[in-house]
Amino acid sequence: MSVHLPGAGAWVSNELVEEGEPFTTADPAHGTVICELPASPEAVVEAAVASARDAFEGAWSSISPGRRQRMLLGLADLVESHSDELAELETTDNGVPLGIVKQFSVAALVKNLRYYAEWIDKMGGEVVPLTSGGALDYATREPYGVIAVLTAYNTPSLFLGSKVGPALATGNTVVLKPSPLASLGALRFAELVAEAGIPAGTLNVVLGGGDVGAALVSNPGVGKVSFTGSRDAGREVSRMAASNLTPVALELGGKSPDLVFADADLGRAAPGAALGVFALTGQACVAGSRLFVERSIAEEVSERIVATARSLPVGDPMAPGTVLGPLITADQRDRVEAMLARAVGAGGSVLCGGERPGGDLSAGYYLSPAVVCGVGDDSELAREEVFGPVVAVLPFDDEDEAIRRANDTPYGLAAGVWTRDVGRAHRVAARLRAGTVWVNSYGVVPHTAPFGGFKESGEGREGGHYALDLYTQVKNVYLDLH
Ligand code: NAD
Repeated sequence: MSVHLPGAGAWVSNELVEEGEPFTTADPAHGTVICELPASPEAVVEAAVASARDAFEGAWSSISPGRRQRMLLGLADLVESHSDELAELETTDNGVPLGIVKQFSVAALVKNLRYYAEWIDKMGGEVVPLTSGGALDYATREPYGVIAVLTAYNTPSLFLGSKVGPALATGNTVVLKPSPLASLGALRFAELVAEAGIPAGTLNVVLGGGDVGAALVSNPGVGKVSFTGSRDAGREVSRMAASNLTPVALELGGKSPDLVFADADLGRAAPGAALGVFALTGQACVAGSRLFVERSIAEEVSERIVATARSLPVGDPMAPGTVLGPLITADQRDRVEAMLARAVGAGGSVLCGGERPGGDLSAGYYLSPAVVCGVGDDSELAREEVFGPVVAVLPFDDEDEAIRRANDTPYGLAAGVWTRDVGRAHRVAARLRAGTVWVNSYGVVPHTAPFGGFKESGEGREGGHYALDLYTQVKNVYLDLH
C-alpha cells in the first residue's frame, strides 16, 4: 500500500474519535483490506451534531463573510495542492480509474469549493415591493444550521465539493457521513479543512453504514439533510427526517434513457452512448442504461456499441489508460452477473461482455462491459438500476413511441438524444421527464449547471446558483417606518 492513509476514525471538533466497532474498507481492484475504521456509535453521532451546532452558533457564524470566503478559497488551494494524494486515495478506495478521478471527481471538488466561495460576496437578498407606504420589507437568505450530508461511494470527492462547498459557503456547518465503502477521502478532506484554519466543529465526519446514517438523519439538532444514494435508502431517509420535519434534499438513482435517431451522426452517437453507460464501470447515477435505437439502425448501432465496449480497457485502476476499473464489491459483481443471467433466461441475448477477466485481475471485482438485446421494456434490465456495466438495446419505430417508452419509468434523473434535426432535438428534450437532457453528448455535468432528478430520482437541485437555494432559507423582515 503506497497511499498515505488519513487517521482511522470519526472526526469531531477537529479530533480523531476511534471509538466504535471496527468495519473494514477494501480495495476492489485487489480484493484486499485497506484498513479498519470504527463505526460511529450513537454517542459519537450526537457529539458530532452538537459540535456542528456549537460551531454554527459560535465560531463559524462569528467569522465575517469576507473572512469565510478567504478561508474557503484557501481550502480550495490546499485541496488542489493535495489533488494527486486525494485521487490516489479515492481510486484505492472505490476502484475508479485514477485518470478519471483526477479529471472528474477531485477536479470537481476544487472547482466547486472555489465557485461557492466566490458566491459569498455575490449572493444578496431583495427589497420587497409593497403596495402601501411607510414600511420597508426585505428578504434575506439564512443558513439552516447543521447540514447532515450522506453520500454514495462512486464519486466521493465530487460530493464533498457539490454539497459541503455550498453548505459551508452559505454559513452552515456540516456533519458528513460518507459511504462505508469509500470513506477515506472524506477523512483526509477533514484534516485539510482543519489545516486551512476553518474552526473546529465546522466540518465533522461520522463513519459507518445505514444505521449510523439513520442516527444522524433522526437527530433533532440537524437543520437539513442532503442525501445522495439509492432510491430505497432515500425513501428511508425521508421517512426518518419527517419525524422531526427536517427538510431533505435527495439525489437518487436513475434508469436513464438514451435515444438514438436514424438521422444521428453514428460515428459520435455510438461511442458517446457506450461511454454514457459504461463510464465508472456503470456505477454512475446518470448511466444511460436503456438505449432506445430507431429500428432501421438498431443492428448497426448494436454492432458499433459492441465494438466500443470491446475496445474499452478494463484493468488496474491505477494504470494509465484504464477506462473500466472493478465494481465496488464482490456482492455487486455477483448481483450484476445474476441480472445478466436472468435477462438471458427471459429470452435476452448478451452480445458481448459480462465476463470476469482472468490473470492479474482475477482477485478484483471486474466485469467486462455487456451489451444486451432482446429484452422487453418490462424486463428487470429495462426497469431496475443495475449500477454495473450493462446496457439494454431497445429498438423503436417513431419519435412518439420512443418518448413514451423513455418516460415509462419511476425514475427521472437524466436522458440523452442523438439527432442532427434541431427541431427534433428541442422537441424531444422538452418532452423527456428528466432533470438533465443531453443532446449529442452524454454525462457532461458542468459545475455551474443545475443537477437533480424528476420523479423518484430526487428532490432539489445541486450545481450552479441552484445549490444556494438548497442550503439557505428565506427570512422576510417587515419594518414599520413610523
Ligand atoms: P446507498 O443508498 O447504499 O448509500 C448511500 C448512503 O446512504 C451511504 O452513505 C449509506 O451508508 C447511507 N444509507 C444507506 N441506507 C441508509 C438508511 N436507511 N438511513 C440512512 N443512511 C443510509 O447508495 P450507494 O450504493 O452508495 O450508491 C449508489 C446509489 O446512489 C445508486 O442508486 C446511484 O444512482 C445513487 N447515486 C445518485 C447520485 C445523484 O447525484 N443523483 C449520485 C451518485 C449515486
